Amino acid sequence: MRIGHGFDVHRFAPEASETKPLILGGVTLPDALSLEAHSDGDVVLHALCDALLGAIGEGDIGQHFPDTDKKFAGVSSLTLLEHVYSLVTACSLTLANADITVIAQSPKLAPHREAMCLRIASSLKASRDCINVKATTTEQLGAIGRGEGIACHAVVLLEGCE
Ligand code: MG
Repeated sequence: MRIGHGFDVHRFAPEASETKPLILGGVTLPDALSLEAHSDGDVVLHALCDALLGAIGEGDIGQHFPDTDKKFAGVSSLTLLEHVYSLVTACSLTLANADITVIAQSPKLAPHREAMCLRIASSLKASRDCINVKATTTEQLGAIGRGEGIACHAVVLLEGCE
C-alpha cells in the first residue's frame, strides 16, 4: 500500500468570466468567480494529482506539467488527472480511496459535492464510494476566509493490483 498527500491554493480572478468559469473537481460552478491559473485552475484536481504523485514517489504536478509550457495553457485538469493516474496504474497500483477537503469561504460547495465525486470516480475508473469530497470554511479567518481564493487538501491510499 502507498499513501500520498496533496495541497494546492489558487487565488480568485478579479471578476467572473464566462469563458473561464470556476471548475472544481472537474465540475463547472456557474456564476462564481474563477480561479487564476495557467491551466483551468481546478485546485481540487491539482491537490489530488499531487497526492497521487506523492504516493508513487513521482514528485509533483509542477514537474510533470510546468506552467511555463504553453501546451498546458487552459488545459482541463481532468486530462492532467487521467495522465497522472496512468502513472499510478503503470506501477501496478490502483486507488483504494481518496479523501478530499476543499477550503473555501464561498461559493457554497455542498450542492456540487456529489457531482465532483462522480466526475473524479469516473476519471479514475473507481467506484463512487472510493471518493469523498468534503468542504469547510475557515470561519472568515485568513486569506481564504476573506474570500481571496480556494485551497484544497487531498489524501489518497493506493493498493497493489497484481
Ligand atoms: Mg494548482
